[in-house]
Amino acid sequence: MIRAVALMSAGLDSLLAARIISGMGIEVHGLHCTFRFAFGPGRERPQALAEKTSAMGIRLHVADVTDPFMDVLRRPEHGFGSAVNPCIDCHLFMIRRARALMEELGAAFLVTGEVVGQRPMSQNKPTLFHIEKLAGLKRLILRPLSAHVLPVTLPEENGWVDRSRLYGIHGRGRRPQEALAAEFGITEYAQPAGGCILTDPFYAGRVKAFIKNRGQESLTPETMLLCRFGRHFWIGNGLWVVIGREEKDNAALENLSAGRWVFEAEDFTGPTALADTISGPDEAALVASMLARYVNRRTGDRVRVRASRGDESMRIDASPMDPADLEKWMI
Ligand code: SF4
Repeated sequence: MIRAVALMSAGLDSLLAARIISGMGIEVHGLHCTFRFAFGPGRERPQALAEKTSAMGIRLHVADVTDPFMDVLRRPEHGFGSAVNPCIDCHLFMIRRARALMEELGAAFLVTGEVVGQRPMSQNKPTLFHIEKLAGLKRLILRPLSAHVLPVTLPEENGWVDRSRLYGIHGRGRRPQEALAAEFGITEYAQPAGGCILTDPFYAGRVKAFIKNRGQESLTPETMLLCRFGRHFWIGNGLWVVIGREEKDNAALENLSAGRWVFEAEDFTGPTALADTISGPDEAALVASMLARYVNRRTGDRVRVRASRGDESMRIDASPMDPADLEKWMI
């Protein structure tokens, strides 16, 4: 039996692509890549996807690719899109991961849900061919949804798949995919979003501020995750302070506090603050007064703040900082 690997996001297009090929009697293995900073440590999404693919007779392989992907983020060969989204390199990275799985399973070709013209940066024909060539999979990537607007691939030429049962979908419209989903009885699927969190300009502003101050090589999965939560401040001398905005931020900050200074008010309720480096008591006092601005207190109250990192700790008697001063540092 011919075997294929299908790259699967949690979206409809890759589900359809895999379904089309498995419907031709080919043994399809799905590969779903996850990033800890993009979706958090939860496994709900892969689980939901695995249930759908198993109903189609497709075994899903889930790979946490966060650590190797950091090199792509630190040095994207084809650069970033409008935010911190290295889309071309990200596609190439995933296709290379899929190629490794193909080799492991002895699969003959790769299936993707790419649709020509759907995403301007990474799903135009020249880019698709360029990626294919760089990944060493020339003519071995089958895009069932757009096959009729693309050159014939080896799986079609060799008769492994029936080209007449493939499609010629292109552009940004969703109607053809929705019609196909109805035909296959796929009723539950995620609505397409504009891209992953790396395409979010607000998030990107925080990541870029980190890169500017600490350098691209210092980016870690934890940094990327931290950029999702709370209020972020960069102070002139390179001091980075993150202050929780709501309960879930404070919980996330606690989880990401290893090796960082944690600031909390002792006598009042309020957020948690994190600082990755503190040069001495003056900086600690500055962070404490930033935090004091956000605690629940009466006007005029001073705030006792406890700062700790591992075994080290200090107490600071802080008065709240003027909001105007805070704002000028906020990202
Ligand atoms: S939108 Fe995000 S996940 Fe999709 S290709 Fe771009 S960087 Fe990768």
